[in-house]
Amino acid sequence: MSLSNLSLRCSACGETYETAWAWRCDCGAPLDFLADARPSRSAPDPREFDDRRGLWSFADFLPVGPHVTLGEGMTPLVDAPEWDAAFKLEYVFPTGSFKDRGATTTLSVATELGVEKVVEDSSGNAGAAIATYAARAGIDADIYVPASVKAAKLRAIERAGATPVRVEGSREDVTDACLEAVEDGDGWYASHAWNPAFFAGTATFAYEVAYQRGWSAPDAVVTPLGHGTLFLGAYRGFRALRDAGWIDEMPKLLGAQAAGYAPVAEELHGPTEGTNDVADGIQIRDPTRLDQILDAVDATDGDAIALTEDAVETELDRLHRRGFYTEPTCAVAPAALGEYRERGVLSDDDDVVVPLTGSGLKN
Ligand SMILES: [Zn+2]
Repeated sequence: MSLSNLSLRCSACGETYETAWAWRCDCGAPLDFLADARPSRSAPDPREFDDRRGLWSFADFLPVGPHVTLGEGMTPLVDAPEWDAAFKLEYVFPTGSFKDRGATTTLSVATELGVEKVVEDSSGNAGAAIATYAARAGIDADIYVPASVKAAKLRAIERAGATPVRVEGSREDVTDACLEAVEDGDGWYASHAWNPAFFAGTATFAYEVAYQRGWSAPDAVVTPLGHGTLFLGAYRGFRALRDAGWIDEMPKLLGAQAAGYAPVAEELHGPTEGTNDVADGIQIRDPTRLDQILDAVDATDGDAIALTEDAVETELDRLHRRGFYTEPTCAVAPAALGEYRERGVLSDDDDVVVPLTGSGLKN
């Protein structure tokens, strides 16, 4: 059997996987698609572009067809004058977070491969997204979550008919338990950290931003940064647009991490102080694609900084008071925006887009 457009390539050693899907390379590194889908046409007139299929309107850039969809994507890009930025409302998704971008493409790939059961480990949002899209696909799902998972996220997983597997201990312990299941052949790993299909999906964030701005990239994008699901997706998306000639310049990619869980910021700026347990969605000390994240920072003249619990709580209040009902983790990005301006990484006339990644309704 051939995987054809789903053939894989190791990002570290270059090994290819063209006859059977693998969740990671034999060398231990994450895999990516051997050839990324690219449009052969030039950028369509934005006034004539048909965006009625949501994120699947960008099929030219996607490795699969929309086998499993709930009408996701094309989230609003709105002015946020108090922040002197535009917010992309990524909480306007079927399960209330940007993770649906990756879930729709990942379950579409799973369907194409004839997968019967998927497994995923998550602090909540990715688990709810995978459980929901697995339900839509009629595929079984086991979702490994921390024992401390928020009740509303657990309920979303259970009500979709998936099996939550609660693991005591740290976020890393949850991943370890899930990887053991993957290695035992318990299911196909629909991971938002490992699976390249997930990143093909999160790249649609960039396609939408560029389209909504008449095929132009902003000067900078500030995103929460844990495993880099959105950060790397945005990087790949903007790079694909530039390579296809649909935009001219890449935006600066600026990451916002949680203090105490900030491997990228620490790599760039040294140790951080304190721990931020409010931003529970990005408590990742050992991101799977750390090298790729650092490359993306380097390639876009980007950066990553760590935010304290206080900064996130203050920002969350401010967001809620202005009508952006988001979850705490998502407040790291607008908090980082202020910090980047203070440090001079961004100037006042830089044009900035900030995704608001998750809904407050699940908290
Ligand atoms: Zn390898």
